[in-house]
Order: sequence, then C-alpha cells, then structure tokens
Amino acid sequence: MSSQILIVEDEAALVTMLRYNLEQDGYHVEEAGDGEEALLKIDESKPDLILLDWMLPRLSGLEVCRRIRRKPETQDLPVIMLTARGEESDRVRGLDTGADDYVTKPFSPKELLARIRSLLRRANPSDTHETLSGGDIVMDLAAHKVTRTGRDIKLGPTEFRLLRFFMENAGRVLSRERLLDEVWGREIFVEERTVDVHIRRLRKALNKDGEDDPIRTVRSAGYSFEVN
Ligand code: CA
Repeated sequence: MSSQILIVEDEAALVTMLRYNLEQDGYHVEEAGDGEEALLKIDESKPDLILLDWMLPRLSGLEVCRRIRRKPETQDLPVIMLTARGEESDRVRGLDTGADDYVTKPFSPKELLARIRSLLRRANPSDTHETLSGGDIVMDLAAHKVTRTGRDIKLGPTEFRLLRFFMENAGRVLSRERLLDEVWGREIFVEERTVDVHIRRLRKALNKDGEDDPIRTVRSAGYSFEVN
C-alpha cells in the first residue's frame, strides 16, 4: 500500500518537482494550490501526510495547520511545513504551529524524502497490516515472527526489517542505496557492501535445500523480492 501525500503549494514548478520525486519513491500524490482547497482535499482524499507551504493564497499554511490540529479526525495527521529562508522561517519556528517538521526552501528532494519516511514511520509504527505474506513466507509484524511453509525462521533485527521492506515492495528492484535508507536509516553511515552481507544472511535463514530463493540479485541495480 503506497502512502498518499498531499502537496499544498502555490508555486507550480515546485509542485512539479515534488510530485516527480514523490512518485519516483512510490507515493500517491494529491495537490492543492491554496489553503482552502487544502482543507477540502484533506476531507476528500484523507492523505497520510501533508507537505504544507507557509505562504499560500486565501488561507496561510499556519492557519491550515491550526485547523488540521483542531479537528479530531485530522489532529494526528503528519504535517511538514515548507518555509522560505529568512524571517518567515524564523517566525514559523518560533510559533507553535503544530507542524511535525519544517523544511526550509530551497531543500534537497533527498532530504525531504528522508524526513517524510521517518515521519510516516513514526505515525504508523506497526502499520495497518498485521501480517505480510509472499509465496510461502509469512511475516507476523505484531508478533515479530517469520515462517516459511509453516516452519519458524529466525532473523536478526536487520534481516527482519530487510525482509519486511522487500515484502512490502515485492516485485520492485531496490537499489542498495535505497535499502540503506529504508532499512538502516540515513543517520547511520554504512557501506553499501553491508547490504550484501545481510542479504546473504537473510537468504541463508529463509532458504532450505531445494527451496526457491525469493530474493533476486539484479546485476548492477540491486535486489528484488519475487515469488510466484
Ligand atoms: Ca507559496
């Protein structure tokens, strides 16, 4: 299930850039060009996260954020405020807007994506799905257990997160860089080679003699989880 992100921004070029990067990362994107439209879109499309520009026509980002927080249905909705450099961003930091995070323009898409991911993770620690399954492999996320054709698979915490991310993105080729971002987190410096080491461990734990290896190595691109 891809998360839905609502971009509230009146600068068309920025919207295009954000949409492109978010869609590349697998998100579903909705847009609103002013504060009033934003409130309508939130009711209508129930986004998982909002990127909210501070300076907007009609209603300011600040006011939109206040209204989001006032409504019980949206009070926990993750909001990242986009602010311009200068006095505006100082003001926004000084005010209790209720935003979860701030990004100052101009920002790198990579940094913004990392913040989005971490915010979404915080918002849904165990996700809506309690179990994931692919082929004969089942992950019970709540109980933190993995089985293959009914037998218990023992995984270390990194292999567990790795398998989870693979299964959530089954069929997609995932680069080592992407895996590092998602599974290890950007805060930690890890070499890309480390990914290979953990993939090897994961394969060893998952695959018994004669069983298909669900993890495909894609030359010079990365790995993908594939089951029939
Ligand atoms: Ca603006």
